Amino acid sequence: MADLSALSAAHYVERAIADGGSGNSSIVLELEARFAVFKEAQFALCVASGTSALIAACKAVGVRPGELVGVSAIGPAMSGQAILAVGARPLFLDSPSPSSFGISISAAADAVERGVKAVIVVPMWGYWDEQPGALAVLRRGGVPLIADTAQAPFLRLGSGLLKTADIACLSLHARKPLRAGEGGVCLTNNRQYAERMVSARNFGQKAQLKEGHLVPSGPFGEHGGANLKMNALGAAWCLSQLENVEAIRARLGQLRARGLEAFHAAGSDWHEVAQAAEVVEHGRYGITAICPDSASAANLVSGLTGAGIEVDTQRFAYRPMYEARCFGPVDRPCPVAEELTQVAVACRLEAFARLPVP
Ligand SMILES: *Cc1c(COP(=O)(O)O)cnc(C)c1O
Repeated sequence: MADLSALSAAHYVERAIADGGSGNSSIVLELEARFAVFKEAQFALCVASGTSALIAACKAVGVRPGELVGVSAIGPAMSGQAILAVGARPLFLDSPSPSSFGISISAAADAVERGVKAVIVVPMWGYWDEQPGALAVLRRGGVPLIADTAQAPFLRLGSGLLKTADIACLSLHARKPLRAGEGGVCLTNNRQYAERMVSARNFGQKAQLKEGHLVPSGPFGEHGGANLKMNALGAAWCLSQLENVEAIRARLGQLRARGLEAFHAAGSDWHEVAQAAEVVEHGRYGITAICPDSASAANLVSGLTGAGIEVDTQRFAYRPMYEARCFGPVDRPCPVAEELTQVAVACRLEAFARLPVP
């Protein structure tokens, strides 16, 4: 796929170069328009990375240095590092069960009580499992919800992802299903949040609607902001993928079928991690199995690696986020997340690309 999409990207890349290649290029505006349609979002804003998207989102909802931001403990360090990057402090939120990537109702209630300025949920490997009760607690508490859907670009919810989350962030990193090399997207239906994300991205410029599209305008430094813009060459490559998004969707569906066969061949006593009933389309990043105990998880891993399949939970030594040193000692660990990370085995769908079609 990489070669094919590189070929069809060539004319966009030439246009991006002729334009100077910066994030202000018309190619980037075209990519934003495509993402707005693909993700059913009123505003889609391209940024330099998934991490930049989370940073812009935190700033947009008004997170200030020193404040608390809740984040799913089962997410990767990157999600929490965006919180550190805006000078805020992460509050780690536990899962409702050791087979769910959602946050528990009691974790949500605790977050509201401790005055978090936002909550970031992370549908790992594409599995969305947020409990309606937990979401209601956050909504009642007036806490904005940011969905770190870096691993769930295809995720769709019956209620609408952007009706549930105030902002959703994507990563276009080389290891994600839609790629720009490096890149990210902020998605929202909230005009004020979108304007603030433009400011955060474009040296504090104000935002203006131009032909239905939100663009930076006026002098730099009207607000605080930096350069979080996306390189237009990466945008050009990604644009060619979005033009063929049906083919990518279909290919990821085939990889999932192959992947499930490989998992079943490698072990029998596992079940797939939970997904909320309102999921209309899985995020299409990976497959996650939950095993009865860590011994059978180790067994499944050795079966998969023996078949030449890269296991993500091995590559990243999957542990609760707060075990990364940058977060320092944590006063309240998340026991359910601890258990989950000991029995979860996950592979990216791309790990099955070299296997024969079943
Ligand atoms: C990849 C990833 C990120 C970071 O994205 P970058 O584009 O690499 O900055 C953040 N959160 C999750 C869940 C990711 O998988």
